[in-house]
Amino acid sequence: MAERDPYEVLGVARDASPDEIKKAYRRSAREHHPDAHQGEAAGAAEAEFKAVAAAYEVLSDPERRDRFDRFGHTGSAGPGDPFSGFGDIFESFFGSSGSPFGGGFSGGGRRRSGPVSGEDLETVLEVGFEEAVFGAEAEVSVRTAVACLDCEATGAAPGSGPETCTGCGGAGQVQRVRQSLLGQMVTSSACTACSGRGQVMKDPCQTCKGEGRSVEERSFTVQVRAGVDEGTTLRLSGRGAVGPRGGPAGDLYVRVRVSAHPVFERHGVDLLHRLHLPVTQASLGVILDYETLDGLEELVIPRGTSTGDVFRFRGSGVPHLQGRGRGDLLIEVHVDTPVELSEEADRLLRALAEERDEVVAEPGEGLISKIRSAFR
Ligand SMILES: [Zn+2]
Ligand SMILES: [Zn+2]
Repeated sequence: MAERDPYEVLGVARDASPDEIKKAYRRSAREHHPDAHQGEAAGAAEAEFKAVAAAYEVLSDPERRDRFDRFGHTGSAGPGDPFSGFGDIFESFFGSSGSPFGGGFSGGGRRRSGPVSGEDLETVLEVGFEEAVFGAEAEVSVRTAVACLDCEATGAAPGSGPETCTGCGGAGQVQRVRQSLLGQMVTSSACTACSGRGQVMKDPCQTCKGEGRSVEERSFTVQVRAGVDEGTTLRLSGRGAVGPRGGPAGDLYVRVRVSAHPVFERHGVDLLHRLHLPVTQASLGVILDYETLDGLEELVIPRGTSTGDVFRFRGSGVPHLQGRGRGDLLIEVHVDTPVELSEEADRLLRALAEERDEVVAEPGEGLISKIRSAFR
């Protein structure tokens, strides 16, 4: 995936101000939001929506914008990750106050030297068999770190604030000059007085002990797409733990587990039912009212059906996650031998055997012990 020109994607001039870029981004993101489109158009909109997000990620970050201006690419934002930047989208859509973490993001993009990101989290979502087939809205809850409201995620007690570290003058790094064989070498390392943050907290917030965040249970609504299967992992960008002191949030990974169905087995997009039939129905044929996931259907079992025969309802399986259409519902027949015969049933079977010239064991004692001896 080649990196597209972010100016072109957002439709702004090369010298656009940050404000103009933000406006263009909001307009384009709204226009291409996948929820605002139906069917095929939604797919195209989603692709464009991601391109818009990626473009904004570059142009809203002075460092990356500068890199693009000079080199024609940013050399980062791995192409394997089309979802990077979604966290930023949610932040700008919902704003700080509407963010799931109750606000307190201290603005600014994600810069390498900026605040520390929060942790990625993982949770498991158990969905019903039919929810996985037809899609559903589900709720996941997770213990996560949220912004501390008392200090607005700064970590500083009300009225106080972080102060510039005197050890490094706010740089977060201290440089040392030493003489070596090759001449003067300058090495820099993180300032120990402020752990490289450049700022120190003289008076930390009591609630969060200066962390700027606290642990809480949060729940999110997840769209389970029709056709998800056991083991699918959904990634909710920016829904992980918030970072300390206003750092951006990590991601939340939701691992999907699908509960079993009493009748149907899932094989990719196909469903399989091992249907047991009595020998009479298999031999003489029958029309059954058959309960598919979509409702009642007529299942025609023709005369002379045998174990292993498969009947198929086309398109009554699981929707394809990518693309259109559904798999099939396969019904594999297992013919059951009649057991625990009544006297009358015994008599009828013997009559049948006689009619078809089939030799069968005589009734009476000794038969069971004879059969057993054959297996010794
Ligand atoms: Zn606090
Ligand atoms: Zn320092």
